[in-house]
Amino acid sequence: MNPNPDLVIVGAGPAGLALAAALADAGLRPLVLEQQDRAALDEPAEDGREIALTHRARRVMHALGIWQALPESGIAPLREARVLDGDAPTTLHFGPGEEALGWLVPNHLIRRAALAAALQRPAVQLLCNARVTALGLDAASATVTLADGNRYTAALIVAADSRFSQTRRLAGIGAQMHDFGRSVVVGRVAHTMPNHGIAWECFRYGNTLALLPLNDDVTSAVVTVDSSLAAQWLALDDAAFAARIEAQTTGRLGSLRAAGPRHHYPLVGVYAHRFAAPRFALVGDAAVGMHPVTAHGYNFGLYGVEVLARELGRAHGRGLDLGALPALQTYEREHRRTTLPVYLGTNAIVSLFTDERTLPKLARQAVIQLSERMPLVSQLVKMAITRQLTGTGRTRRATAVPG
Ligand SMILES: Cc1cc2nc3c(=O)[nH]c(=O)nc-3n(C[C@H](O)[C@H](O)[C@H](O)COP(=O)(O)OP(=O)(O)OC[C@H]3O[C@@H](n4cnc5c(N)ncnc54)[C@H](O)[C@@H]3O)c2cc1C
Repeated sequence: MNPNPDLVIVGAGPAGLALAAALADAGLRPLVLEQQDRAALDEPAEDGREIALTHRARRVMHALGIWQALPESGIAPLREARVLDGDAPTTLHFGPGEEALGWLVPNHLIRRAALAAALQRPAVQLLCNARVTALGLDAASATVTLADGNRYTAALIVAADSRFSQTRRLAGIGAQMHDFGRSVVVGRVAHTMPNHGIAWECFRYGNTLALLPLNDDVTSAVVTVDSSLAAQWLALDDAAFAARIEAQTTGRLGSLRAAGPRHHYPLVGVYAHRFAAPRFALVGDAAVGMHPVTAHGYNFGLYGVEVLARELGRAHGRGLDLGALPALQTYEREHRRTTLPVYLGTNAIVSLFTDERTLPKLARQAVIQLSERMPLVSQLVKMAITRQLTGTGRTRRATAVPG
């Protein structure tokens, strides 16, 4: 173990590991501290998250060798996305184009691939069973202390330790937290009819159902319910869960059966007040923890990794102090510009589409109807949304069609 890393990353999740790889490529020697043991990182458990990745995210993953470390069978192209409101007959419809809108990859495969990519670089050091419990930031250096009393000092500490980041709190950085009072219950279902690579976001009354198309006639069903109902959904056996999902897919996928266990996540959106302070920065969910409905969390994590590594690489190249504010603030400004409008927009959409009072119901039907009747407005709105979906400047064919 090199006792003098250039910087310390707290958290070996997919964001922290991607950052370690990117920093090594920029000529730096990062030390990654992770509270879990090595076996949990080597064989991460399947967690029910199917991560929708944009074109930009894939480019970043490819540059870091993460994409190449994914098994091909685990990558499912997302060809179209459709949004359906209640019983209304019209859907918002994105794609298909010549290329996929994006790709769905299980989170545990991303974690494994990010670990392999990071450890391929000799400059990256990883220490497991290393839970950070204290932080000291001063003019000359930054120090973290672990639960076992060991301490590590570097020019900069980067927190990548989840949306409930303890290190962010230790640095005295607050966060806006939006508890939606709702939870997602996710589970895979196998079906007798093909999904054609089409994702559905169905804002039904009572619950929201997202259908994420995977390979081999399997789809991930993501049910968002009032948190008081989550236990009821989790208690369903395989047959009852599949029957409930089948009832809401109105025969679109044929008959269904459960194809894996259910997982449960309470929904809390988090936006840190700052992403940088002297000798300290935040990446991944520790900076921006998104509601999953617009599928941006890890995509944003990768965009942040790209920008932070670029800025730190430049500072290193010029022989500057890595913990000094200018480079960190450039990252903060750029990442805020990318993420804040989508964070706020996502929260507003979630509120509009999950509010079951009469007025919001009418408002969202009006949004969808307007999109159908005013092609120019609809095209502009949907072009903007599609750009966000794919993470590119390019646009896709987008239409309102009968559901
Ligand atoms: C249901 C669901 C669906 C999602 N779908 C999508 C999607 O479609 N597209 C998308 O882009 N994103 C999606 N996301 C978001 C995505 O999963 C997250 O953005 C991503 O996993 C965050 O990675 P991270 O590395 O920032 O944090 P985490 O994965 O939370 O990793 C944090 C790491 O830090 C470690 N740690 C924590 N505290 C300490 C400490 N004190 N000391 C040392 N180590 C510590 C933890 O053990 C962990 O390994 C979804 C999320 C959910 C819940």
